[in-house]
Amino acid sequence: VKIALFSVLLLTLLITLPLSACEQLVVHFLDVGQADSILLELPDGQNLLIDAGNRADGDLVVDYIKARGINRLDYVIGTHPHEDHIGGLAQVIHSFDIGRFYMPRVIHTSKTFEDLLIVVKDQGIKIKTARAGVNLIEQDQLKAYFLSPVRDHYDNLNHWSAVLQLIYGNTSFLFTGDTESINEFEMLTLSSKRTQADVLKVGHHGSDSSTTEHFLKALNSSYAVISVGKDNPYGHPSPVVLKRLQEHGVVTFRTDELGTIKCYSDGEKIRFDKAVEEEGLVNRLSTPISTGTGVEITLVDLKGETVVIKNNSNKKEDISGWKLVSVKGEQSFIFPAGTFLESGASITVATGRKAKAGPRVIIWTKAYIWNNDGDPAQLYDDQGKLVEEYY
Ligand SMILES: [Zn+2]
Repeated sequence: VKIALFSVLLLTLLITLPLSACEQLVVHFLDVGQADSILLELPDGQNLLIDAGNRADGDLVVDYIKARGINRLDYVIGTHPHEDHIGGLAQVIHSFDIGRFYMPRVIHTSKTFEDLLIVVKDQGIKIKTARAGVNLIEQDQLKAYFLSPVRDHYDNLNHWSAVLQLIYGNTSFLFTGDTESINEFEMLTLSSKRTQADVLKVGHHGSDSSTTEHFLKALNSSYAVISVGKDNPYGHPSPVVLKRLQEHGVVTFRTDELGTIKCYSDGEKIRFDKAVEEEGLVNRLSTPISTGTGVEITLVDLKGETVVIKNNSNKKEDISGWKLVSVKGEQSFIFPAGTFLESGASITVATGRKAKAGPRVIIWTKAYIWNNDGDPAQLYDDQGKLVEEYY
């Protein structure tokens, strides 16, 4: 009886405890100036570090990790041998208990790289090869694997960058190192696994060699983070890349503007810090996360029988199931499934006998709806909420 009672108690506990409350993924994009360093506190309690900034950032990176109460890094990744990525790694490896250490199979003749190899050897750590197809974590809800490098040889060190794909529940993260367009193309075309990124760590500090139109279209990301130094001599991030991100409705955060950026996932939703001061670094987001809807009616031409609806938000909006209502005529048009409005784009709803379909024109009806008599138009979203009224 005691055992049975205990089992019931245990079962009740298991059912009632909010087990998911602590199962959170935290991603820290450390402000290491013109360099990369990303710390991941995984929901299963393990820790993963991608790069450690320049050599001079070693202290900062080590202190930041220690301040989180971490003394073991289960996975450490050196994306490629450039100093702005592996510079601080020797100090990190010296300071923590290291699990598995990954780097792409390429060498470099710099002092920084040689020093790293010495520390790695001194600590008795074996370097595992980072390349497409290598799995780090394969759990039900948590997966981590490399998508790049794909080939056995590249002429440019940046192209060797280890790219980590992390999937937690329904959320995805892509950490791209300094990959460029060639790698983006390879990931999309040669990989057996789908490349996905709700959150994209933008390749090569926002250089225009990366983050192609094609890549952004395939990823359909919600957020991007650019790790970049203030007033750097390379002109990173490129205005072309920033514009591309904006056109694809990707909310973009930069370490040169915000300092260290923290991002959270519970496996369903992704959240960024709004205003946090921690470890002396100011986390400040200049762009609102939730933009709400910026869709509005910009024109009702009662005589021409056209209504123009524009998306003024910086995100692509799905207006499937939205309703346009002619108030006086008590008639309504429902936008068909699959109707999307890119950021900044407009769509025209045409009515009347002269209505002609086009790439951005939808025909409601050949009947006259607005009748040139001051009929107000209303726009409702798919939940039936009034978005806008136009007189
Ligand atoms: Zn770099």
